[in-house]
Amino acid sequence: MNDFPLNLVSVAVPRPVDGLFTYRISAELAPTVQVGSWVKVPFGRNQLHAFVVEPVRQALSEADLPAQVSLEKMKSVIEVGNSGEPVFTSELLALCRWTSDYYGMPLGEVLHCALPPAALGLRNARKNPRPLKQRTEPIVKPHELTLDQRVAFDQLESLRTELRPGKAKVALLHGVTGSGKTELYLELARRSLADGKGVLILVPEIALSSQLHRRFEESLGEAVGLWHSAVADGKRRDELAALQRGELRVVVGARSAVFAPVPDLGLIVIDEEHDPTYKQEDRVRYHARDLSVVRSRLTGAFVVLGSATPSLETRERVLEGKYSIAHLPKRIATGGMPTIELVDLGEEPKVEGIQAVLAEKTVEAIRAAIQSGGQVMIFLNRRGYAAFLLCEDCGEVVGCPNCSISLTVHKKRRLLVCHVCAHQEPIPDVCEKCRGDKLSPMGAGIESLEEDLPKIVPEAIPLRLDRDQVTSQTRLEKVLQDFREQKANILMGTQMLVKGHDFPGVTLVVVILADALFRWPDFRATERAYQILKQVAGRAGRGERPGKVLVQTFDPDHAVLSVLRGELSEETFIESERELRKVLNYPPFGRILRLRLESADFAEAKNRASSVAQRLTELQTAGLIDVLGPSEAFLERAKGIFRWDILVKSPEIQHLHRALRMAKELAHREKWSLGVDVDPYAMA
Ligand code: ADP
Ligand code: ZN
Repeated sequence: MNDFPLNLVSVAVPRPVDGLFTYRISAELAPTVQVGSWVKVPFGRNQLHAFVVEPVRQALSEADLPAQVSLEKMKSVIEVGNSGEPVFTSELLALCRWTSDYYGMPLGEVLHCALPPAALGLRNARKNPRPLKQRTEPIVKPHELTLDQRVAFDQLESLRTELRPGKAKVALLHGVTGSGKTELYLELARRSLADGKGVLILVPEIALSSQLHRRFEESLGEAVGLWHSAVADGKRRDELAALQRGELRVVVGARSAVFAPVPDLGLIVIDEEHDPTYKQEDRVRYHARDLSVVRSRLTGAFVVLGSATPSLETRERVLEGKYSIAHLPKRIATGGMPTIELVDLGEEPKVEGIQAVLAEKTVEAIRAAIQSGGQVMIFLNRRGYAAFLLCEDCGEVVGCPNCSISLTVHKKRRLLVCHVCAHQEPIPDVCEKCRGDKLSPMGAGIESLEEDLPKIVPEAIPLRLDRDQVTSQTRLEKVLQDFREQKANILMGTQMLVKGHDFPGVTLVVVILADALFRWPDFRATERAYQILKQVAGRAGRGERPGKVLVQTFDPDHAVLSVLRGELSEETFIESERELRKVLNYPPFGRILRLRLESADFAEAKNRASSVAQRLTELQTAGLIDVLGPSEAFLERAKGIFRWDILVKSPEIQHLHRALRMAKELAHREKWSLGVDVDPYAMA
């Protein structure tokens, strides 16, 4: 039997394997498929959806088949999705290819991340997408811009309309919290739409996106898509279809929305550009802000990076003249910027008999704020009741059986919980090691504060915001709304509290322990501490009344606190951070690649890491890269797996990419799994 001519199609599969896979496709199906289609194919023992990234070609003889496969072994495409209608454009493919090359991730994985099964209609979705509701009239009229806003806007608008083919067009909008940045995003979006161009707005948290989504929809007077992993499957399907038909031109979303196929993209806004959640930390490790710049180069879209505390990376691009900059130095609200006071925990008398460290002075300030009709926000960056359970007799701390970390005490649920692998066990009555019964919860979490606060502040009506308490989007919005409507006078929370919420009633913000932020083992810790504290402080005094911020600390002389209080200028602070990074060749100067070798066996993980490091010595000796390690990961054991890291540094990305290829070749040959992180953020 003669098989030839034979139709072949190369596809990218959503699996952690590099390279494309080639399948036969019947003469009947072949004409329906094009670049951008998806198909269902057999893969190992399973079936997968896969992305068509090259045109169908014909093999005339055995010689035209890919080198690794024989005709007998070659499998066939089972089904063509969506009748072959493309689900991604050449622009999106180019962006995904860039992502794949730069971050060392398989193309199929990147495409999967850009077009998840829900959007393709593969999961729990209606067979046919429904049209979106269209709006015609804005409900909210724009504010008249202030003088500062006008100046910044004119600057940004002239950049937006400038032609710079083949080059990225990026500006930093450096504006203090509450300075009216969002108002400018809206105006830029209006102009973009009027020019027939699409708009993409990224926010760091899913939790924030619905608030901003509403604001955009009400102000623009047309449908705005909401794009993130928590959006219902059917809705994602409808949105993707509407984008493809060109009926939807604006999308608000979290980091994965950087891949949203907005047609004729003209504007990308990255709000809070410094936020580390823009870096995806699992499966496909990419940075959405950095990809937005790539997308700008591919499409000519104008990127606005908004922040009150821009990252060192972005500041450096401004210094180099690659990005432009516009400023909004003042708040819109008449209350002005809040005053910041330190509470020296080493000196001040503290409240006895409660879990958290709370100075009497702080408690008085909370009471005073509430009594004068204000609201209070309290920031404590730890979930649960206490950090760990300590045996006072033998000093034993209860740890996770799977991870190298202590278990957190969750008193209400009567559980010890691992915040890495979610392992749970009942709180024991006696110490496992010495059978002693003096087990004490140490350190304070948000749950203890919720329990203790009403005892010392009788007027308190508290609400809590953390991942244990707020498990759904609806629940989150409810908490935020209740607080906005003044149904409570205290909102306490973890990291979740920090981001962009606008509560005009808040007159006092309390940081329970600033020190926890300084001690993180990461070269970005100081920068990050500054950003978080500045942002927390920014929640105070957004209305007419002036705000106050109380920061409790054992280390009142820390540089971060000096800048925060205005004793040290931000320029000086940033400059010294910058110098430090420069000397150590860290970003924004040097680039980093982290390679991670894992095994359930300690020695095996270590040996693999040594072999990979060994393989890289050639590049190191040539002076092209710097190899640090191998060393145990900060969290050396997680979910029962030992982790060893190698850090590779170089000023040049191509050298890092060379090192990456060498490491991948070795790992592939030996069948080791290799964790790859280009431009890592989670150093710890
Ligand atoms: P940011 O994004 O910088 O935090 P927003 O754009 O949210 O700031 O503005 C802060 C507050 O000021 C919002 O309540 C907004 O409605 C209001 N606002 C912004 N611009 C103006 C303006 N030109 N006139 C009056 N109010 C404004
Ligand atoms: Zn664990």
